[in-house]
Amino acid sequence: MRTLFSGGTILTCDANHTIFSQGDLVIEADRIVYVGPAYGGTYDVRLPAVGRLILPGFVNAHTHAPMTLFRGLADDVNLQVFLAERVWPREIRMSPDDAYHGAVLAGIEMLRSGVTTYADMYFFPEELARAALDVGLRALVTPGIIDSPAWIPRFGTWEDFTQRALEFCTAWEGREGRIHTGLGPHSPYTLSLDALMRIRQVALEHDLPINIHILESPWEKDNPDVPDVERLADRGFFEGRTIAAHSVWVDAAGIETYARRGVGVAHCPQSNAKLGNGIAPVWAMLAAGVDVGLGTDGAATNNNLDLHEELRLAPLLQNVHSHDPTALSAGQALAMATRLGGRAIHLPDIGVLAEGYRADILVARTDDPAAVPLFDPSGYIGHVVYAMDRGCVDQVWVAGTRVVDGGEVLTVDVAQAMANVQRAALAVTARAAV
Ligand SMILES: [Zn+2]
Repeated sequence: MRTLFSGGTILTCDANHTIFSQGDLVIEADRIVYVGPAYGGTYDVRLPAVGRLILPGFVNAHTHAPMTLFRGLADDVNLQVFLAERVWPREIRMSPDDAYHGAVLAGIEMLRSGVTTYADMYFFPEELARAALDVGLRALVTPGIIDSPAWIPRFGTWEDFTQRALEFCTAWEGREGRIHTGLGPHSPYTLSLDALMRIRQVALEHDLPINIHILESPWEKDNPDVPDVERLADRGFFEGRTIAAHSVWVDAAGIETYARRGVGVAHCPQSNAKLGNGIAPVWAMLAAGVDVGLGTDGAATNNNLDLHEELRLAPLLQNVHSHDPTALSAGQALAMATRLGGRAIHLPDIGVLAEGYRADILVARTDDPAAVPLFDPSGYIGHVVYAMDRGCVDQVWVAGTRVVDGGEVLTVDVAQAMANVQRAALAVTARAAV
């Protein structure tokens, strides 16, 4: 079936920032088959889009969806306290159902902010994938792998984690055209270099991407036991596909390595700001040709999953850091939320409205005070980044299916999802007795 979106303003988010005012977009099954001026071909359904802005769905390049259960539990503490005292004692007592409920609520938040794809690192990958399918999102699910004595009685060794992760990837890759898989070794401070290299070997043998936290905090940068990008590169860790979350403290040599090895970066400005970790050198990474996407990180360090807030904060922080209002343009920021985000998580056929790309689409209202006035259609780029917010989200389509309409999520019962998380969060905290 062919669906025609007719007469909208289309921000394609391609490399040239091409815009079609009064443009048409046609989707068939889960792909875009036409984008441009008035469409002359056949179609089955016509959706008038006059007064609407059509753009690619946003890509949340880094999150931990079930951590909605920990929202508000770890405010005003640093990363080490956050992990060791607040989060890990609860995580080892979470049930698969808890993780599912947390991920469903996360999915609702993401859809409401216009996200169509997210990259997740967490435990209970089957529940993560099931939640993504039920909510209607596209997800790159990378089961977390960690080496910690406290976790062994519950989850086994890091080798056990890796084996289970591989079994998950084999079973779930490509489900319903919306589940993508990879491995999620947590970080170079929770896994030895030898373990990281063994996991990389598995990833290479099975052609899987690796999703890892790198140089998130000053503590990692200053700790000689935590290998930096060069030490990882010397061992060959960046062979294959990698998503390096955060990379706040990556230096010039590290950026060069990222560019040479095709490492994608997930920049999480709100999480980095909240934990006082610093401002990642995004301008330098983009200048070097590194694909940098935007991520919310988990709800415990943000505290919401509204990618629109990252889209606005990212350029502002780069300007603050460099004392230069041209450090990161609105167009570059929007690219990070779309095209570059897709490339950063190694899904290069999302994030652009063009023939052959996935039919993952955000339709925004322009009858909003923050979208007025408009001097030229290109003004919508700045409006989307600096002025409009998630209240403008009208429709969201993922893989050719409408999952949000009139700003309301169509796929799951939102009130029930909130009640499930309220109940699960209290239960996990009671079991952890913290
Ligand atoms: Zn993270």
